[in-house]
Amino acid sequence: MSNFANVSRRKFLVTAGASAGAVLLKGCVGNPPSATAPVATNVAASPSPVTAGDTPETTTIKLGYIPIVESAAMIIAQQKGFFAKYGMTGVELSKQANWASARDNVTIGSGGGGIDGGQWQMPMPHLISEGIITNGQKVPMYVLAQLNTQGNGIAIAGIHAGKGLGADIASAADYIKGFQANEGRKFKAAHTFPNVNQDFWIRYWFSAGGVDPDNDIDLLAVPPAETVQGMRNGTMDAFSTGDPWPYRIVADEIGFMAALTHEIWSFHPEEYLAIRADWVDANPKATKALLKGLMEAQQWCDDPANRAELVQICSGRNFFNIPAEILTPPYKGNYTMGDGKAAFNDINAGPLYWKDPKGSVSYPYKSHDLWFLTESMRWGFHKNTLTDFDVVQRMVDSVNREDLWLEAAKEAGFSDLPTSTSRGVETFFDGIKFDPANPEAYLTSLDIKRV
Ligand code: CA
Repeated sequence: MSNFANVSRRKFLVTAGASAGAVLLKGCVGNPPSATAPVATNVAASPSPVTAGDTPETTTIKLGYIPIVESAAMIIAQQKGFFAKYGMTGVELSKQANWASARDNVTIGSGGGGIDGGQWQMPMPHLISEGIITNGQKVPMYVLAQLNTQGNGIAIAGIHAGKGLGADIASAADYIKGFQANEGRKFKAAHTFPNVNQDFWIRYWFSAGGVDPDNDIDLLAVPPAETVQGMRNGTMDAFSTGDPWPYRIVADEIGFMAALTHEIWSFHPEEYLAIRADWVDANPKATKALLKGLMEAQQWCDDPANRAELVQICSGRNFFNIPAEILTPPYKGNYTMGDGKAAFNDINAGPLYWKDPKGSVSYPYKSHDLWFLTESMRWGFHKNTLTDFDVVQRMVDSVNREDLWLEAAKEAGFSDLPTSTSRGVETFFDGIKFDPANPEAYLTSLDIKRV
């Protein structure tokens, strides 16, 4: 272990007590739902850009978040006064215990003690709108902005070091598939919520290497604390997870990183801001004020000069509640991979918020909603609803409100805005291409699928 890792590890243990795994988990699974953070105190000093006609219908909204890097821009917008600058002086950020709680809370709405919207893995807003993951209760939602790209990866338990589990696992496929015969159980992998981003990333990674995630292994939703415990005691093999876990898994000697999502699909869509449609429809000016504040925060987050302050704010007790040292490496693009893999030292490998080399991060490209729903079809998720691409396109068009994003960006005077709802053809690390103009060809090109 390097000195760097030693220092880091000591700091985790000091903070976390007996279990290093407890630090982040406190935020992810242990905290009571709706632990509410205080409203901003340091409102931006510049004069308010809110003119009489723009005055928001309301100054308050309750947004849920999960204490991971995906929520950083919302936290910065509130804490640095960017929401308030555009008139949203009463934005309440509500820490969610897990994704199921966020789903349940948005179904209730803030009027019932829940939330109006917030941070989502995809395609949760579409699934909630259709009642697919809410016991049939349809709660129409609008996707308004992307919160970030990247910042996720595939972690592997240390007992599998030296077996060829990198980005490309073709040479390790027999080892993984032979687990049942050799170890008496299938290779076991976890994500935090079924049929959304982290499930998709690990499924893509397994199947690109010739491992069928439905048949060759066990893949299931497991709370992070349990997953990490399992990786330590030899009962859990892989974990599809987000920053700052990749750093901690290696530094705490729990395992190594097989791949960053940056390697699987550079500048891929990650998590989004979505709000209940009834709230947006009743408060269109407040919605655009929120978006302007978020966009300005995203620009702030991408400035390397602001990253130390970002880490200081987000790691604090009101938000992630972890030592700042744990959050710093991903924000520098520093990823120690372990298992002999070269480390990354590239800010473009980590989470980005406003722009990336492919275009806008914040703008919610419809072509990305389409990929998430196409990938859902690939795996046979929600078969009764996702019957064909006409249905999928209708869902994208009713949930994705890129029009509101563009209006807000133009009103705020931001420049260099996207000119198409499609980011164009996407290329994955195994050479597979997704052409949003022909999603069926993508499905046809895949070897492992359920359609
Ligand atoms: Ca994520």
